[in-house]
Amino acid sequence: MLKLFNSFSSSVEDFIPFEKNLVKIFICGPTVYDYAHLGHARIFLTYDLLSRYLNDQGLQTDVLVNMTDINQNVFNKAKENSTTYKDVAKFYAFAFADDLQSLGVYSVNRLAYVSDYVSSIENEVKKLMEKKVAYMAHGNVYLDVSKVKNYGKISKQTKTQLNMHRLDIGPGKKNPEDVMLWNCTEDFAFSWDSEFGKGVPWWHMQDTAVAFENFGKNYDIHGGARELLYPHHEAHLAQYQLLSDSDAPVKSWVHVGLVLSGGEKMSKSLGNVVWVHDLVKKHGPDIIRLYIFSRHYRDDMDFSEKDLVEKKPLLDLIRFAGARVSDGTDKYISDLINDFVKSLGNDLDSPAALAKLEEICLGVKDGKKINKIDFGRICTILGITP
Ligand SMILES: [Zn+2]
Repeated sequence: MLKLFNSFSSSVEDFIPFEKNLVKIFICGPTVYDYAHLGHARIFLTYDLLSRYLNDQGLQTDVLVNMTDINQNVFNKAKENSTTYKDVAKFYAFAFADDLQSLGVYSVNRLAYVSDYVSSIENEVKKLMEKKVAYMAHGNVYLDVSKVKNYGKISKQTKTQLNMHRLDIGPGKKNPEDVMLWNCTEDFAFSWDSEFGKGVPWWHMQDTAVAFENFGKNYDIHGGARELLYPHHEAHLAQYQLLSDSDAPVKSWVHVGLVLSGGEKMSKSLGNVVWVHDLVKKHGPDIIRLYIFSRHYRDDMDFSEKDLVEKKPLLDLIRFAGARVSDGTDKYISDLINDFVKSLGNDLDSPAALAKLEEICLGVKDGKKINKIDFGRICTILGITP
C-alpha cells in the first residue's frame, strides 16, 4: 500500500483513493506567460513518478492540470506584444506541453485553460453567495472565511496569524483574511461580464471551478509547489468544502519542495533561471529524471549542473545492465526489485529507490541475471529509456 505525506494532517498516511482502481490527481499548473523552468519540471516529474508507480500497482490515474491564463502577467505580456491574452496563453501552453513531452511526462491527460471555465466560476461564486458564505463589498466578491471549518489548518496558521496577512486588500471586507472571488474594482486590460459586474474571476476560484467541473465533489490528490499552501490551497480547500458539502473533498495534499538556483529562488531579474528546454537539449531527459529523483520530493534542492552531471555514471550503469538482459531473473535481483518498488511506496522515497537500482545494476554487472520484462518495468516506473 502506498504511504503518502498529507499536508492537511501533517503526517504520512495510508493512501486510499475514493474509487477502488482510479486515482484522480489535480496539479496546479503554470501561469502561461513564460517558458517552464526546472522548478516546474520537478513538480510534473514528481507526479509523473507517482502516477507511474500507481499504474505499476494496477491503478489507473486521471491527471488534470490547469493553465492559468486569467492573470495580470498574461495580460501584461499581451499588451507588450499588442495581442490578446488568448494568443499569449496558447503560445506558452504549447511550449509547456512540448516540455512535458520532452521530459517523458505522459501521465498528464487533461490540460485546462481556466478562461474556458468562466461561466462555471460565476455559477459557483453565485452558489457560495446563496449559501451566505460569500458577500459583495464595494463591487468585489469575497469569501467569508469565518464561516469555514478548519480554515488555516492546511497552512498551519492560527486566526491571529491569518489576520496578519494583508490579503486582497479592499474596502468593506468583513475579515482581513477573507479571500477575493471576483475582482470588479481594479482596471484590467481584459475582463468578463458577470452578474456581479464586469471584472476578473480571481485566482483561487479559477482552480476550484476547473477541478469541480472535471472531477465533481471529490478527488484524490491535489498537488503543486509547497509555496502554494497559503493563500492558494487554503482558499481552494475552503471553497471546495463549501461547494461539495464535505469536510474532506480531497484525500491527500501532496506538496513538492522548491528548486533554488545559487541558493535563491529562480527569477529572470536575478538571471538564475534554468529553462527546461535548454536543459533537455543539453543533457536529455533521462539524466534530468535521475537528478530530480535523487532528492526526496518534499526537500528543497539547490540546482547544480555539476550534481546533475554526476548522475551520468548511474545512467551508464543502467544502460550497461539494459544491454545484458537475459531470459531469467535471479532471486537476489527480484528481491532488490521488490525493495525498489517498496521504497517508492514509502512516501515516494526515490533516493532509496535509486540506491536499490544501482545495486540491481551492479549485480547484473557481476553476472546476476535480470530478464527484459523486469528491467523494462523499472525503466517504465522511472520514465527512462531502457
Ligand atoms: Zn492552483
